[in-house]
Amino acid sequence: MELCELVCPTCFERFEVAAPDVGDTVFPVEHDYDCAVCCRPMLIVFEISFEGDEVSGFARGLGE
Ligand SMILES: [Zn+2]
Repeated sequence: MELCELVCPTCFERFEVAAPDVGDTVFPVEHDYDCAVCCRPMLIVFEISFEGDEVSGFARGLGE
């Protein structure tokens, strides 16, 4: 399992989340997530690289 490092869009704390498995996931994937530091909700989006072998993620605030 791969970890993606993300930055909370509200408090800008860095945190890691487990990336979805490449094999059985249809990308892009969106997850609702509550920040462990500031408890604000965010949307995490996982994308697959063009080569199809690397997952990257980013977080954005809801309503942006
Ligand atoms: Zn936060």
